Amino acid sequence: MKVALVNPPWTFHGSVYLGCREPHLPIELGYARALLERAGHEAALVDAQARGIDLIALRAEVAALRPDMTVIATAPSYLSWRSPPPELRVPMAAVAALRGHGGLLVAVGPHGSATPRAALRKLGVDVIVLGECEEILVMLAGATESRFWQIPSIAYRRNGIDHVQGGPYAACLRTLPALRWDGATIARHVHHHHRFDAVPDGPSAEMETSRGSPCRCASCARDGARDRLRKRPLATVLDELDALLAEGVRHVYFIDERFLPDRALLEELWARDVVFGVQLRIDSWSREMLDLLGRAGCVSIEASVERPSIEGMDPLTRRCSASTEELTALLVHARRSVPFVQANLSDAGSGDPAETASWRQRLLGLGVWANEPVPAFPYPGSPAYTRRWGAPDDGAWERAHAHYIAEHRTFGDLPDSRPLPLTELEHGAR
Ligand code: SF4
Repeated sequence: MKVALVNPPWTFHGSVYLGCREPHLPIELGYARALLERAGHEAALVDAQARGIDLIALRAEVAALRPDMTVIATAPSYLSWRSPPPELRVPMAAVAALRGHGGLLVAVGPHGSATPRAALRKLGVDVIVLGECEEILVMLAGATESRFWQIPSIAYRRNGIDHVQGGPYAACLRTLPALRWDGATIARHVHHHHRFDAVPDGPSAEMETSRGSPCRCASCARDGARDRLRKRPLATVLDELDALLAEGVRHVYFIDERFLPDRALLEELWARDVVFGVQLRIDSWSREMLDLLGRAGCVSIEASVERPSIEGMDPLTRRCSASTEELTALLVHARRSVPFVQANLSDAGSGDPAETASWRQRLLGLGVWANEPVPAFPYPGSPAYTRRWGAPDDGAWERAHAHYIAEHRTFGDLPDSRPLPLTELEHGAR
């Protein structure tokens, strides 16, 4: 079977999307390509965002491939799956452009994982994959439609009836291969994600060493998915890293939800001529391991911190159990060897704003960057959503979005001063 794997040309005008708007490697599509090829299929990855091609050019390219199946991502990359653009405007437009040219249309991403029926209806695709898509896409490529009932973690419509089979899928990280990216892909990837210490001196790449986090921060859209920590084998990570370095990569961003202390990995990084950035929970790290992290080449830490809970662990969110003083001491210690350390403050509606403001000023004075707390979007599938409205239903994204833009007057560093309603963003996209 021939398969096209599409990252559509993203636009963010009017969106409340707070994530990075630069292109990143679509890692999930990279794995899918490798697994499909391993299974004997032909697979082509068309990254319209990275290449700056529009829907017309995308349609022409996909049509020329004459695929039997086309996969469309509903978030720009795994980096944004936990906090994607809430609207489906871009993937809806991509589906409309590719209908009749791409064979079986399959959507992958966080929207279909949290609300499969709504995503199926809005996107108008044939199949939705719930959760991590790589292995499921291989099953789909090897099956006729009459056999879809045997495939886990998909939603599809057959004879006018929506079928949702199982929950979000978790891939086996032990068997996912070391990714390979061609020279042109790497050469155009000049953006160094979340790096502020130096001007980029060559291309960057995103990688992952693990998936999953046992925490449940209020705004993180991962209920029922990625709860269990899974690690890639060190040999696979190093194989991929060394191939990237051979292509000229100078900087790597590890997209792991929660980059964990791993002495063997850090010592291997230390031995290589590369710098890297991570996101982590600072309370998972000892001072000794933070020192090793800095020595290994870490130039940027983004440490997720909700308003500090002096009381310790929140029973619902199972949030950080460290005190504000302990968090401060660890952040300041990390800053001794890592040039940029950010306490990423989000506002999940708990805690005392004055206390947070004063903590922020104190961190800034100690050399740790701390942003103004950004109002946390209550993503369907996040504890913040579930606490307020229960399990997400077909109107979950509209409900969360309407609540969010009605409730908040300021949106941190959001480039658009006033976000548009979700229905307006998606109107006419199909
Ligand atoms: S630490 Fe919190 S924000 Fe990070 S992945 Fe885990 S739950 Fe999400």
